[in-house]
Amino acid sequence: MATDHKVKAMSGPNTQYDPVEVSALDPEAVAGNVRDALAAAAAAGTLDELKAARLAHAGDKSPLALANREIGALPPSAKAEAGKRVGQARGQVAQAFTAREAELAAAAEEAMLAEEQQDLTVVPPRHTLGARHPVSAMVDRVSDIFVGLGWEIAEGPEVESEWFNFDALNFGPDHPARAMQDTFFVEPADAGLVLRTHTSPVQMRSLLERDLPVYVAAPGRTFRTDDLDATHTPVFAQVEGLAVDRGLTMAHLKGTLDRFAQELFGADLVTRLRPAFFPFTEPSAEMDVQCWVCKGSDPACRVCGGTGWIEWGGCGMVNQNVLRAAGIDPEVYTGFAFGMGIERAVMLRHGVTDMFDIVEGDVRFSKQFGMEV
Ligand SMILES: [Zn+2]
Repeated sequence: MATDHKVKAMSGPNTQYDPVEVSALDPEAVAGNVRDALAAAAAAGTLDELKAARLAHAGDKSPLALANREIGALPPSAKAEAGKRVGQARGQVAQAFTAREAELAAAAEEAMLAEEQQDLTVVPPRHTLGARHPVSAMVDRVSDIFVGLGWEIAEGPEVESEWFNFDALNFGPDHPARAMQDTFFVEPADAGLVLRTHTSPVQMRSLLERDLPVYVAAPGRTFRTDDLDATHTPVFAQVEGLAVDRGLTMAHLKGTLDRFAQELFGADLVTRLRPAFFPFTEPSAEMDVQCWVCKGSDPACRVCGGTGWIEWGGCGMVNQNVLRAAGIDPEVYTGFAFGMGIERAVMLRHGVTDMFDIVEGDVRFSKQFGMEV
């Protein structure tokens, strides 16, 4: 039958075609194509699947497109009816695909939005700010105090020659401070190098490097062979003060220490000096600060132990031998010097009771001191 149609179609106008005989235009066939197309559109789960289904069921080579082409071969009397049927079918299919496309596009959009959704209540990861170590902050604070007095800040090496650390400071060869149990000696043993046991060698370096008069404060790290415990650490910081000028007396020393203590611990505090001995000062004194908690009024005071005074450092008039070692005439110039521990200042000022807190470097400890500028 189909072969016959074809032969006839090729032989001239298809005037004798009965649309019912053209299988592609058969109402049942068209309805079947529509059903297939609607089912395929509904079954498409993604836009890509829908695109393939649309090509198969509504594209140029789809059964309905082929049927549409057959209409042209129908006799005029049959064209209208077949055209209406196929046109409606194609319109229905096109509508179904358009509707399904809108559904799938909306679903895809929703999925994308869900995937890209930002939870604005989530706390973002933050760069944790550290904190200055209280010892560093104290070094700066002390330096600021002396700069405010018109002094200069001096520095020296932490690996120091024995001569600067001991000899120049009038420590005799047999002075107990030189003993192995107090001092870190740097190998080889005959190199004459130590980790400086105090900041005092900066005194001699300053006198050799600077023109007189000299007013310097020298904060820095120092080292001794102490075991780490609640009040001792083998690495600790000191601040050294040195003034050499014409006419300096113990009164200048006392006035400077009072001012220093007031700036650091409390405006109306005073210091007191107790006789002591250090090789590089003569006379020498231990220095106490008045207890800023009780000022001596509370026998049960936990800060000063009820004495009203807190030990804080050593001081004295620069030993004439030290001046001579620096080439300075002690008949013309005199000087005073003092030194105190920075950790002790931190512990006293902030009520820190355990050295371990200071040396451990835990940022949670440092943060309690805030940012001092
Ligand atoms: Zn007290």
